[in-house]
Amino acid sequence: MSFFNEKLSHLKEHHLYRELTSFSSFQGPRVTIDGKDIILMGSNNYLGLNNDPRINDAAKEAIDTYGTGSGGSRLTTGSSTLHSQLESRIAEFKGTEAALVFNTGYMANIGILSAICDKHWTLLSDKLNHASLVDGWKLTDASCYRYKHTNMEDLEKKLKGSKSKYKMIVTDGVFSMDGTLAPLNTIVDLAQSYNAMTLVDDAHGVGVLGANGSGTIRHFGLSHAIDLQVGTLSKAIPSVGGYVAGTKETIDYLKNTARSFIFSTALPAASLATALKAIDIIETEDFRRQELMKKTKTFKKQLIDMGFKLTHTETPILPVLIGDPNKTLMLSQRLMEDGIFIPAIRPPSVPRGSSRLRISMMATHLDSDLNYVLQRMQIHGRALGIIGD
Ligand code: PMP
Repeated sequence: MSFFNEKLSHLKEHHLYRELTSFSSFQGPRVTIDGKDIILMGSNNYLGLNNDPRINDAAKEAIDTYGTGSGGSRLTTGSSTLHSQLESRIAEFKGTEAALVFNTGYMANIGILSAICDKHWTLLSDKLNHASLVDGWKLTDASCYRYKHTNMEDLEKKLKGSKSKYKMIVTDGVFSMDGTLAPLNTIVDLAQSYNAMTLVDDAHGVGVLGANGSGTIRHFGLSHAIDLQVGTLSKAIPSVGGYVAGTKETIDYLKNTARSFIFSTALPAASLATALKAIDIIETEDFRRQELMKKTKTFKKQLIDMGFKLTHTETPILPVLIGDPNKTLMLSQRLMEDGIFIPAIRPPSVPRGSSRLRISMMATHLDSDLNYVLQRMQIHGRALGIIGD
């Protein structure tokens, strides 16, 4: 048996083999898959802004002015006035002095950590942090302690035990597979007490939480207390890209040292113009957030009332815990046959034994569709023994 065949067979045997599901429509509350109209319950397009005509027009206009490609990396020939406009806009949105745009959130995290941390550093990282934060650490010579999820006693114990010259507490703002929030007030207090830097990755908080939808950090009123505010342009903001916001000095340092920033071609104009327009809309159209929260609250309550077990989520990410990867996959497949797409999340995306359906809500979901989803989930949940009769 070949190397690849052996590895793939192992994944299949353990129900961990994955396949791509491709849409032939724009990603909204309903999508087209294999010619069929499907209700989508797993998108990060929380506010339903993907395909908003105002945003589409901004992207088209940018293509007409700047073309489709950027032609180089930022520090050579790839930087445009749109890049600097977006960076100023993000800094304003996040309440910081400056910001730097990367090509993805993943690239932001690996670039930042590898540019800052060497053997003199210890990272204190929540166990459920996004893979890009783990991978960023792997590119460094720093030590890393992974504290129990949101457990501040464990974090303090680890901070106390660290003899490193420099320390950084690293956390997601909203945890992507659990929907839980990081206790940022305590994290900031501990960072001050133990002289540690802070990095918060708020990929899932933007658009959803905080004054004007600027995210988890503003939600906790801590804009000036977090050293590195990381985010993505690919979720509530319906584009692609990542960023970090912080002091001018920090941003200047990262611009000069972050390898994923330096050695990769800059984002094209359409992506930048999309993000610029989306931030304007997110800031001004609060009704989208209210609608999202209202739908989330009702849907979550109905799932719990049916007997489904959810994480301690506080956001529109509603993970339904099942445990067994095969059962999780079966539920996802049965729902797909009914015209509903909820992705089955299995290891390595989540810890072993905690496979789940990751539902995420959109402000634009129709109530009639949500009722249908609940009805089908109840039927299949009972048939598979996930909930009682
Ligand atoms: N951080 C978190 C918490 C995420 O959920 C994601 C995306 N899944 C990323 C970073 C990576 O962002 P991007 O998709 O822009 O690479």
